[in-house]
Amino acid sequence: MKTIVLGGGLMGSATAFFLAQRGLPVCLIDRGAIGAGATVASFGNIRRTGRYLPQLPLAHRARALWGRAESLLGRDVEFRATGHLRLIFDQPSFDDMTTFAQAARPWGLSLEVVEPAQLRKQFPGLGPDAIGASFSPQDGSANPRLVAPAFADAAARTGAQIVDQAGHVQVHAQNGSFTVRTARGDFNADVVVNCAGAWGREIAAQFGEDVPLRMAGPQMGVTEPLPHRIVPVVGMWSQDRGAYLRQVERGNVVFGGAVAQVPVACGSFAKIDPSLTATQLAQVVRLCPALADVAVIRQWSGCEGYVSDGLPVMGPSTTTPGLFHAFGFCGHGFQLGPAVGDVMAELVATGQCTTPLAPFAISRFASCP
Ligand SMILES: Cc1cc2nc3c(=O)[nH]c(=O)nc-3n(C[C@H](O)[C@H](O)[C@H](O)COP(=O)(O)OP(=O)(O)OC[C@H]3O[C@@H](n4cnc5c(N)ncnc54)[C@H](O)[C@@H]3O)c2cc1C
Repeated sequence: MKTIVLGGGLMGSATAFFLAQRGLPVCLIDRGAIGAGATVASFGNIRRTGRYLPQLPLAHRARALWGRAESLLGRDVEFRATGHLRLIFDQPSFDDMTTFAQAARPWGLSLEVVEPAQLRKQFPGLGPDAIGASFSPQDGSANPRLVAPAFADAAARTGAQIVDQAGHVQVHAQNGSFTVRTARGDFNADVVVNCAGAWGREIAAQFGEDVPLRMAGPQMGVTEPLPHRIVPVVGMWSQDRGAYLRQVERGNVVFGGAVAQVPVACGSFAKIDPSLTATQLAQVVRLCPALADVAVIRQWSGCEGYVSDGLPVMGPSTTTPGLFHAFGFCGHGFQLGPAVGDVMAELVATGQCTTPLAPFAISRFASCP
């Protein structure tokens, strides 16, 4: 049984790797470069705090795989379990945090509640006006530039065929199998996994499955390099959109959040909106006032697929045997990526999955007009 994985972002590269690891023939096809979609643009946050609770089993499976990433991939993708600190500046947000922390415990996520005195002692310089924080010690970050190519290279070493720069890609189903036509030739398979990210909707629609997905780009930035002082990933519990930041080991501070994602027109690239930058930086400085006078050296965005209910689409197609979907990760797919690959490989190989995927089934949109 041969599988074609469409889309070489983190989801597709990881799916190809885990299929190859199971000894199944697999071909990973991307119309462009491996990892150059939403994945490379990601902030790199490996965060379980604040997730939709039924997604936590998948997030835990992912966190376990991140911990093994270097040995699985034979390469350091800069996964660091630095902890995820989420600062709180007002009482309603504090109440949200405690409600989430209680609800998440039976789902296997233990958040530490950090009182103000402890916050000042343990994390000096962060959120001087904060009234508290949550801390998730086993979360952290990884390098979004490294991870998809690392999965694809490891997949290739394990026997997968990698076809990048495939240009215009067309999928055809006939008599229970698939042909994928590309600028680099035709490829045949029994199974297709749609990991086309923000463009996954187009592939699903071709098979009669409409998903309410919009394309938009979160706005990111990075400062000049500074002495390395900030260890955890730092975010914000907020009634509105909170900012977040992390300092990479080379010293630059990467930041995002605090502003709405910029819509991406079909066929276009994700762009930042310079008029949002001042609002974003004001929130970043609340997290870390020492950043008030540093230079921002680059800003960027990336095209992400946001499904109307904020959840991804994962699982088998309801119309086409042999077709599977894993797309539309709504700005929080980086953390999930390794587990998405692992569960999609499990699903293809065995027809079932030990991690619950029902909330993400494409059938939830079957009645959409
Ligand atoms: C700016 C930004 C910051 C983010 N920060 C975080 C974060 O901190 N933490 C977190 O958990 N998540 C974060 N996310 C979300 C996360 O990065 C994404 O959910 C995840 O990378 C999606 O991976 P993917 O493989 O589904 O999509 P992509 O990486 O977009 O890959 C899809 C691939 O499919 C290819 N493709 C498209 N159409 C076709 C076709 N027809 N045939 C073949 N190939 C095709 C594209 O070329 C692309 O390479 C962020 C996203 C963005 C944009």
